[in-house]
Amino acid sequence: MSLYQRACRVIPGGVDSPVRAFGSVGGDPVFIARASGPYLYDTDGREYVDAVGSWGPALLGHAHPEVVRAVQEAAARGLSFGAPTEAEVELAEAVRARVPEAAKVRFVSTGTEACMTAIRLARGATGRDLIVKFAGCYHGHSDGLLAAAGSGVATQGLPGSAGVTAATAGQTIVVPYNDEAALEAVFDAYPDQIAAVITEPAPANMGVVPPAVGFNAFLRAITARHGALLIFDEVLTGFRVHRSGWWGLERSAVETPPLVETPPLVELVETTAPAPKASTGSPNAAPDLFTFGKVVGGGMPLAAIGGRADVMDLLAPLGPVYQAGTLSGNPLATAAGIATLRLADINVYAAVDAVSSDLQAAVNEALFEVGVPHLVQSAGSLFTVFFGDFDRPITDYAAAQRQDSAAFARFFHAMLDAGVALPPSGYEAWFLSAAHDDAALNRIVEALPGAARAALG
Ligand code: PLP
Repeated sequence: MSLYQRACRVIPGGVDSPVRAFGSVGGDPVFIARASGPYLYDTDGREYVDAVGSWGPALLGHAHPEVVRAVQEAAARGLSFGAPTEAEVELAEAVRARVPEAAKVRFVSTGTEACMTAIRLARGATGRDLIVKFAGCYHGHSDGLLAAAGSGVATQGLPGSAGVTAATAGQTIVVPYNDEAALEAVFDAYPDQIAAVITEPAPANMGVVPPAVGFNAFLRAITARHGALLIFDEVLTGFRVHRSGWWGLERSAVETPPLVETPPLVELVETTAPAPKASTGSPNAAPDLFTFGKVVGGGMPLAAIGGRADVMDLLAPLGPVYQAGTLSGNPLATAAGIATLRLADINVYAAVDAVSSDLQAAVNEALFEVGVPHLVQSAGSLFTVFFGDFDRPITDYAAAQRQDSAAFARFFHAMLDAGVALPPSGYEAWFLSAAHDDAALNRIVEALPGAARAALG
């Protein structure tokens, strides 16, 4: 009996997260035994160049010796205390040093929790119920955020999830991405009812679909105008596309960020929440809240909510918005996060950017060479190869869904057969690392011509 068959007897679908199951590309998932640098090794000892990077965390490559050592040393001191530690303070300081607008930071264990808590905070801060999200953006698997959720939900072809009550789903309004008029219409239709707009500031869960120029600034302006909070979900982009995440990348790309007055929180708070201590937000174009995950935990289960101090201080124990976690800020996870952020200097980001752009060029060339219609879209070092005839950039989920998933599946399997592990879905980004040296890159490049021919069908 194969390991997969054994797994299917005791684990639903044989996997602990659906996209791992190869549902959209067919075949049996590969079981991984170990990983090192840019390489994965399966349980039969076969080596793959990895372009999944554990879906984002492995910015430095797998099992970086300094990160592993930090975790080992932390483990020797104890696995979990259920009490505050210096490492949590140090990691929060490291996050704030890179994203100063995350004035206060609370650690949790998963990106799902971080986004769920950010939503609760926004509702607590505003006394409003409705949330706006964009079709194709994924913010984890909490009930209210599963509508048109991209990522694994898109891979499975699901509109949302069974088990989410109509009442909960009804409090999430879904708008097409990059569509300013649709968002204006929603704010007009629900005056004073929208607590927050949550967005991936550079979506990568419907494949990579970058924001139109000025779209994030528009989100800041419209939410501020209507007294709603803006949440940047940087679980995927945070500390990956730039040392300060997408927010840092976008800010560094414009000399002067647009100035938008953040509304005074005191005006937002209804009777359900007490008046916060700080009454105004600083006037800038930053979102009110960020969520982080993946890289910030260095491959361990850790994520974070960060943002305006006056909003963050509404969290218990200071404020009325409850949030907690037995393993929150776990010492092993914080040790991995601190070591990872310490190592992730500008050279790391330059290396990942370089290998990403070289690979994008090579994929383009290989697919053009044999005439496979496709479109490569990128946001920072993240990119997706959309198969299909696209005569213009993909700007939203509806367009992303027109991709040729069968061609992707053929390409995916040919790459896998040649020893390259791609994300097993056309709705995901390719994740590279600073450990992808010339040898690793060349192995991917050498696999491309054969995979391009396979994609033709
Ligand atoms: N938000 C974004 C943008 C993500 O990409 C993900 C996971 O891929 C999440 C939230 C959920 O994070 P987690 O899988 O850690 O719950």
